Amino acid sequence: MERPQKRVLLAGPRGYCAGVDRAVQTVEKALELYGPPVYVRKEIVHNRHVVRGLERRGAVFVEETDEVPPGSTVVFSAHGVAPDVHVAARARSLRVIDATCPLVTKVHNEARRFAADGYDILLIGHQGHEEVAGTAGEAPAHIQVVDGPEDVDAVTVRDPARVAWLSQTTLSVDETMSTVERLRSRFPDLVSPPSDDICYATQNRQQAVKVIAPSCDVVIVVGSENSSNSRRLCEVALEAGAGGAHLVDFAHEMAEEWVRDASTVGVTAGASVPNDLVEDLLGWLRERGFTEVEEVTTAVESTVFALPQELRTELRRASGE
Ligand code: SF4
Repeated sequence: MERPQKRVLLAGPRGYCAGVDRAVQTVEKALELYGPPVYVRKEIVHNRHVVRGLERRGAVFVEETDEVPPGSTVVFSAHGVAPDVHVAARARSLRVIDATCPLVTKVHNEARRFAADGYDILLIGHQGHEEVAGTAGEAPAHIQVVDGPEDVDAVTVRDPARVAWLSQTTLSVDETMSTVERLRSRFPDLVSPPSDDICYATQNRQQAVKVIAPSCDVVIVVGSENSSNSRRLCEVALEAGAGGAHLVDFAHEMAEEWVRDASTVGVTAGASVPNDLVEDLLGWLRERGFTEVEEVTTAVESTVFALPQELRTELRRASGE
């Protein structure tokens, strides 16, 4: 069959994951239940469009709990918080709804368990990322952040026989494994987490982009600059053979020259990106002759997380159940 002149390969899965969907719904339901303002510590998810939409409905985004008026409602973001943030919220008598993704909570639990067993924990992740700050805060005396293979040589531990690694949930799978290999060459007794810390959504989106990238002149990732998993999708696309890769929040950020000479454009979206932004991009490409869209699905996702318990209880009470 003759190959069409201009086509889009659309990676599947892409876009919203279960943790982001739950976090956004949490703020929406809190706004319905309590009315605005509902305060949200940090960006609920790392996506400008989502944050602006919630702001329009009455969510107020703050950096820290000390910006929230005492007695108000505050939602903690999907990235998770350190225990001292809960303590600070209690001290201000805030009504807390914790939208931490359950898969981030799982890593917090692992950190607490390893620390209780006396391990030094090497947390592979990006220094300064909210999720890393939250996990590291579970056991600050036991955890050090390893921000990629180049950090490995600087690691010092109390007992090389009692060392474990954990990771941020949204890293590149391949780069993380190469960091782990380097750590293991220094600490042969290094203990792994009981199950993957890099979450299913991150892994699935990376796998899908790996499959389409070798056939693409360029891959466009819809996502925000501060979204770790979106940035990793660009890197994975390039490593897997895409001719180029660009991250855009919105279709209007596209540059004509990125696709002018392309015959195949790959499209994917980070885990915090709603589908309408992908549709906008496909519309932009359609206007430039990329009318054929072939979806390449490498996994089917069915994960759904229930809303935070504290919110479910309040919703039941409000509905008189
Ligand atoms: Fe949870 Fe993974 Fe989504 Fe982060 S990317 S919110 S860890 S499912």
